[in-house]
Amino acid sequence: MSNPHPSFRDSVDRMFTHAASLMKLPPGLEEKIRVCNSTYTVRFGVRLRGAIHTFTGYRSVHSEHMEPVKGGIRYAMSVNQDEVEALAALMTYKCALVEVPFGGSKGGLRINPREWDEDELERITRRFTYELSRRSLISPSQNVPAPDMGTGEREMAWMADAYKRLHPDDINAKACVTGKPVTIGGILGRVEATGRGLQYALREFFRHPEALKRAGVEGSLSGKRVVVQGLGNVGYHAAKFLQQEDGCVIVTVVEYNGTVSNPDGLDIEALKAHVNETGSVAGFPGATFREAGLEGLEDECDILIPAAVESVITEENAPRIKAKLVIEAANGPVTAEGDEILKKRGIVVIPDMYANAGGVTVSYFEWVKNLSQISLGRLERRHEEARNRMLVEEITRLSADSGVKWTLSDGFKEAYLHGADELELVRSGLDDTMRESYMKMQEVWFGDDRVEDLRTAAYVVAIRRIANVYGSLGL
Ligand code: NAD
Repeated sequence: MSNPHPSFRDSVDRMFTHAASLMKLPPGLEEKIRVCNSTYTVRFGVRLRGAIHTFTGYRSVHSEHMEPVKGGIRYAMSVNQDEVEALAALMTYKCALVEVPFGGSKGGLRINPREWDEDELERITRRFTYELSRRSLISPSQNVPAPDMGTGEREMAWMADAYKRLHPDDINAKACVTGKPVTIGGILGRVEATGRGLQYALREFFRHPEALKRAGVEGSLSGKRVVVQGLGNVGYHAAKFLQQEDGCVIVTVVEYNGTVSNPDGLDIEALKAHVNETGSVAGFPGATFREAGLEGLEDECDILIPAAVESVITEENAPRIKAKLVIEAANGPVTAEGDEILKKRGIVVIPDMYANAGGVTVSYFEWVKNLSQISLGRLERRHEEARNRMLVEEITRLSADSGVKWTLSDGFKEAYLHGADELELVRSGLDDTMRESYMKMQEVWFGDDRVEDLRTAAYVVAIRRIANVYGSLGL
């Protein structure tokens, strides 16, 4: 009998099993791919405020069919073994889907980061890193963490430094974590990467009239009403880019301590500044405020972006969701039951493993940059500019010699002569990844009648790729 309230990991497993049931995998391989290889639990003490405080952390390795394994580290009180295992599994499938050559991992520390000051968090993080390093659960060649909920550049910098001190002779030490500040080996565009990737994913979806038809959406992104849950790294960047660059109207922002709405649109940059200053969305000028809760997810809109935590769209509220399109910025925001209901109601879900893959994609670029010890574009940029200049000068000369006056359009020369810098290369690589991966999912979605949704399609693509790796390894 099926459990009416599955855990996050059960939800992921169910979605996986449904997709695998549509495939012909060699006997036993489905189970091998699905199970989590190992989860390490550590309890360590740190002396703070005159007493020893004991913290519990996890690092789960879902699949090592490719190494290093990759996955963020989350700081939250809700962190538990089930959650990190579900997130590690999603990392395996995500990396396979977007062709990032890593296995899946995830970590977490049960802590409320708001309860500790910066010095204390640094001591806790360095101690956690030491525990992980002792078991090769942080290592440039075996296991590479990154930011997730409650962590960011600052924590990654502490981890990178702690690792370097433990392994001073490792020339690749910097590559032990991604999402670092640029000053210590990070890459331009990593902070915005997940939100940027989500924007590219939506742009790609809107390039396909048949996909839009299935969602019952018309026209372009411009003017689409959007509800966002979570104004953290992912939600803020996604909302900002969609508002400023695609003309979306952000009508509601749901945060853990309140919801604000304005049918004419909320200025995301101003709202973020307000939250940074006051700690809450409450009191934001020109917006209607509601107490904390999930009701905002049910607001009238075209696109719903859950960008906070898992399991927020369930069998309970899925019948009342009004969006036509849900794009999962967070990992696992829709439960297996919620997903069934949305599907039956014709609401298209762009799944987490694709929608938020921008983070791991740019993390991959950062890892490559660290191993090659050189920033992207440094060798080619001026060479590219010189060749472009030659071409423009030649055209100008030909025009003069032929007596026909050709005039280059305004701004063409400057734009064409400009060689791509690191940020432009990162965005280009990310855009390419999001477009190509979408097409692979869509081929399965449109090409197989048994595949009813993009999530199943994403799993099919990912499982096929992982199965191929196992096949090549002779397992
Ligand atoms: P973050 O800590 O920067 O932001 C999370 C935001 O959600 C915060 O503003 C927080 O106040 C809010 N929030 C927390 N609980 C909430 C609740 N119950 N209701 C409403 N709002 C709530 O985290 P993030 O890095 O933006 O991650 C958000 C989600 O995106 C997570 O599921 C994470 O796994 C996923 N993700 C993050 C990345 C990344 O690169 N950071 C990459 C892929 C996926």
